[in-house]
Amino acid sequence: MDEQSPQQTAPPLLSIVVPAYNEMEVIEAFHQRLQDVLAGMSIRSEIVYVNDGSTDDTLTMLRGLTSPTGTVRVLDLSRNFGKEIAMTAGLDHTGGDAVVVIDADLQDPPELIPELVDGWQQGYDVVYATRASRDGETALKKATAKLFYRTIQKLAGKVHIPEDTGDFRLMSRRATEAVTQLREQHRFMKGLFAWVGFPQKSVRYRRDPRYAGTTKWNYWKLWNFSLEGITSFSTAPLRLATYFGFATASLSFAYGLFIIAKTLLLGEPVPGFPSLIALITFLGGVQLLTIGVLGEYLGRMFNEVKHRPLYLLAGDYIAEAVQPRSE
Ligand code: UDP
Ligand code: MG
Repeated sequence: MDEQSPQQTAPPLLSIVVPAYNEMEVIEAFHQRLQDVLAGMSIRSEIVYVNDGSTDDTLTMLRGLTSPTGTVRVLDLSRNFGKEIAMTAGLDHTGGDAVVVIDADLQDPPELIPELVDGWQQGYDVVYATRASRDGETALKKATAKLFYRTIQKLAGKVHIPEDTGDFRLMSRRATEAVTQLREQHRFMKGLFAWVGFPQKSVRYRRDPRYAGTTKWNYWKLWNFSLEGITSFSTAPLRLATYFGFATASLSFAYGLFIIAKTLLLGEPVPGFPSLIALITFLGGVQLLTIGVLGEYLGRMFNEVKHRPLYLLAGDYIAEAVQPRSE
């Protein structure tokens, strides 16, 4: 861990990765608050904004940003790839001794960064921010989020995916490098972050409501996100299908024996058309469900074997520090 402890000579370089998709209403406020925080820390900084194919003026605004504590880099993705991939693009282009990933909408308070850095300086490789509250979110959103974390933890087994933890975190260089080595298309980042291991520490914070603009999430997207999480980190649904099949097959077999015995003992029974239909439709449903589960995994394998690059860059702009650090 020696190479990542702050050196006596130069202050450590902290990279900050900010994915941004249609965030023109907040980006300036965000940048200002981030600057205020960085100015109070004895570090050099490198801010990497990733414009995830925004359709508004986000890119133009990002390109106008500078920082006195270091460079501001703007990676422009060729289209909207989604937050998970935008973050990965940012992580790929960092050189800091430690890397912080933070949302642009000020839901992750930049003021927490010094605390994350403290954790890193104590020797932790991953310091993640855990929400103590979710202000401005509906009871339904809170309940579904809770259910999601419980389920994923049960299914993911050995990989510990911390609860109420988003992507807001600090990672040491070696943890960052480990994460960027994972090149799967289906990127359930919370899971990937957890998968790499290394000493981890949690810092609690209050998650603020969005500063401006709207969330890009809706329940359908969240549902798909949960499916992504479960299928990326667990094959339990495949096993469930096996057990379910086994259970129905055993029951059908027992039922078959019962019918034969009944026919032998009591003679030809009255044909039971309704029960026959019920049984056929039930089994048909079970089969379709099972095939669906198989399909989920097969589809993901299909996407992985194509080995496409995760993203394409349309631009890469770097603004040097506007003034030398005064000390
Ligand atoms: N984001 C992105 N690409 C997307 C959607 C979102 O880069 O396709 C960014 C967005 O600009 C923000 C962060 O990811 O910085 C979190 O997005 P959002 O606030 O919509 O998600 P929530 O906070 O509701 O989970
Ligand atoms: Mg948000």
